[in-house]
Amino acid sequence: MDLEFGEHHARLRDEVEAFLTANWPSDDVRAFRRKAIDVGYLYRHFPAVYGGSEQPADPMADDIIESAFTAARAPQGIIGQGPDMVVPTLLMSGNDAQRERFIEPTLLGDISWCQGYSEPTAGSDLASLRSKAELDGDEWVVNGHKIWTSDADTSDWMFGLFRTEPDQPRHHGITFLLIPMDQPGIEVTPIQSMTGETEFCEVFLTDARTSIDCQVGERGGGWGVSRNLLVHERNLMGFRTQQLFESMLELARTRQMNGAPAIEDAGVRRSLIEIEGELLAAKYSRYRSLTNSARGNPDPNAALAGVVKKLHASTMAKKLTQLGLDLAGADEGLRAQGDASVDLGRANEPGGWTANYLFTHSSAIGGGAPNIQRNIIGERGLGLPRDLRTPKESTPST
Ligand SMILES: Cc1cc2nc3c(=O)[nH]c(=O)nc-3n(C[C@H](O)[C@H](O)[C@H](O)COP(=O)(O)OP(=O)(O)OC[C@H]3O[C@@H](n4cnc5c(N)ncnc54)[C@H](O)[C@@H]3O)c2cc1C
Repeated sequence: MDLEFGEHHARLRDEVEAFLTANWPSDDVRAFRRKAIDVGYLYRHFPAVYGGSEQPADPMADDIIESAFTAARAPQGIIGQGPDMVVPTLLMSGNDAQRERFIEPTLLGDISWCQGYSEPTAGSDLASLRSKAELDGDEWVVNGHKIWTSDADTSDWMFGLFRTEPDQPRHHGITFLLIPMDQPGIEVTPIQSMTGETEFCEVFLTDARTSIDCQVGERGGGWGVSRNLLVHERNLMGFRTQQLFESMLELARTRQMNGAPAIEDAGVRRSLIEIEGELLAAKYSRYRSLTNSARGNPDPNAALAGVVKKLHASTMAKKLTQLGLDLAGADEGLRAQGDASVDLGRANEPGGWTANYLFTHSSAIGGGAPNIQRNIIGERGLGLPRDLRTPKESTPST
């Protein structure tokens, strides 16, 4: 396997590094992003007319840019429901007016989004959702109850699924709507998670309104629209495992164990090697799929690969943070409880390992619970017989 860059890509790496040296750090993140888009480094696969940088498909270049930005800790494209889910959906299923109205402000962070799928009785079995929308002139009137809605308390808009034809079969009669959050018919109640943060909310919709112009795709065709979107979300759910591993090495080098740095302990070394082996396997598997895409043979099972990637990343994140807690020791125990200021990206700050450990449990469920994902991999990927315990089609909501 040849892992060296060719001349073109080596030159690109130098250019990206020079750009970062000249422009980052900066106090104006929005202006930095705009510049990075203009030179073709961010939102590369989104059309220029809607605010992307519209570069030819080049997964190797994507990787070089992402690595250089990560190393410089420079802001990349915004990660979140908007750019990663709404924008691809509007490109695939929206109309021109919706694309013009929403895409560029979403990419630059001027409009933020939350996802209204899950309901108290509809999670893994999302098609049983009951929140409904009825047409009143040229407006949809929406009533219902969404739950686990990440960032609903800070979002400008919700995208979600609502039942519009109750007499149709479950997967039909659902419509995909965009709803402004700032209106009297919407009440948001934050839910505190075990990390102490309020990362998600309940959303009560009582005669909330949205224009018919905010319906994406056909009336009753929302299920199909949402299936395309889930591919994007699963890809988004990967964890910052490499970053966590580097924090772990730092901890193991600085923490004392039996009078020596923990990294010299045979048991700790064995755990670190096992985790590093898993991370390298994931990394080289990614390189292989990048190479295949670059050669014009993209993975036909990309959606399934996203499920595998998410499941693997969440399993690794759990192992890593468990080891982090063990190494950090008693000082660290449950320190993050109630401390919403802990930045999950900075594991070695006080309370960081506890916060990360607790977070890995909830983030493993967001995007689809692990056993549902194992069933998807087993049944659709490996062709195993259908899970006997699965009574009906089960499709995770996020
Ligand atoms: C951090 C986080 C963020 C989230 N953000 C959002 C969001 O922004 N928007 C949104 O709409 N939702 C969001 N969710 C909700 C998430 O999509 C659901 O929690 C998830 O789909 C599981 O649904 P549920 O919680 O209703 O659990 P259930 O579906 O009730 O599942 C409970 C358990 O039963 C198992 N189970 C259920 N059905 C089957 C089956 N057929 N076969 C085998 N096992 C089964 C599940 O695997 C799970 O272990 C978020 C969740 C979390 C944890």
